[in-house]
Amino acid sequence: MEGKKDFGDLVREVIDKGKCALCGGCVATCKLLDYGYLSVDFSEERPVIREGQRCPPDCGYCYYQCPRVEKPELKEGIEEMYEVVTRDEEIKAVCQDGGAVTSLLAYALDERIVEGCITVAVSDKDWKPEVRVAMDRSSLIKTAGTKYTPAATLTGVADAILDHDLWSFALVGTPCQMSSYEKMLTVGRDTHNAHDFSSRVRLRIGLFCKGSYSYEKLINDFIAARHGININEITKMQISENVLRVYAGAEELLSAEISEIEDYKRDGCKVCEDFTALFSDISVGNNGTPEGKSSVIVRTDFGKEVFEGAVERGYIEAKPIDPSGAELIHRLMKQKKEAGIAEKERRMRGQK
Ligand code: SF4
Ligand code: SF4
Ligand code: SF4
Repeated sequence: MEGKKDFGDLVREVIDKGKCALCGGCVATCKLLDYGYLSVDFSEERPVIREGQRCPPDCGYCYYQCPRVEKPELKEGIEEMYEVVTRDEEIKAVCQDGGAVTSLLAYALDERIVEGCITVAVSDKDWKPEVRVAMDRSSLIKTAGTKYTPAATLTGVADAILDHDLWSFALVGTPCQMSSYEKMLTVGRDTHNAHDFSSRVRLRIGLFCKGSYSYEKLINDFIAARHGININEITKMQISENVLRVYAGAEELLSAEISEIEDYKRDGCKVCEDFTALFSDISVGNNGTPEGKSSVIVRTDFGKEVFEGAVERGYIEAKPIDPSGAELIHRLMKQKKEAGIAEKERRMRGQK
């Protein structure tokens, strides 16, 4: 019988093969989490174990948790698509697109559906993504907007439980992070999850994602060095209609076609097949709706309950998405799936 696999196998089969999504799931489920044994090295953009350490025998929680070792199984769900805009003036002032994510989370916090939200903010200094557990409206609002460089968001699951003692929280993340949590929830429970982190995530909000970019290459090389932009001045970054825009307040500092930054996309993103975060209660993005609006896909009965509650209580305004918007989203889903499969096949043929 084949022995249990461990971090060494994760390195060989996933990380060194350029498949790691940097979701942070392996770090959060590491048996020796309390000792900081496994962490993400952001300069190398990969999970690493502390130098000179060896894993205990018969462990391997990290390996079996990883969504890139084996994808979780997708269950049948609903797919209701809406065009959404926030009705909250404070959120409108800081949000990207229609502000749907922040508004849904604000509703979930206010109604005590969740005690906190795991989401990502950027540091004031260098635009580095930081995983945060937002427990109130003001800290939530600081996390508004999409970040385009990686954050190991699943480590926030461990923070929410171990540091904040939360029993019920929302998780906001990219499709890979949602599938990593699904593995934690299904595969991990009782067998490969040392800390039983599964089931405390009450609400999963997934973000449409075409890819994440290496921080070093996008921020330091492209934005700062090539375009001479002072990173400290950046207040917002947005990709829409295949254009990257960087702002300092109302001033646009940079506008560039995303084809210019294609080479900076992380290798792990090139094999990714999920555009809309299929393992979410609610998925949110900006494709398929006019500027200033969010596209929302309700995927589960619980997601529908939260979404309808947020509409009824006046947090958001929603109408069914235009058929052409739904068609665009389906087309992008298909394109990403096909591109991910093609890249995997290309790598298998050794054409890296
Ligand atoms: S989960 Fe176990 S095998 Fe994986 S890094 Fe942690 S100690 Fe090592
Ligand atoms: S994809 Fe996620 S779980 Fe897998 S090795 Fe990378 S960070 Fe760890
Ligand atoms: S492209 Fe895929 S792997 Fe990359 S950040 Fe998005 S969901 Fe994760």
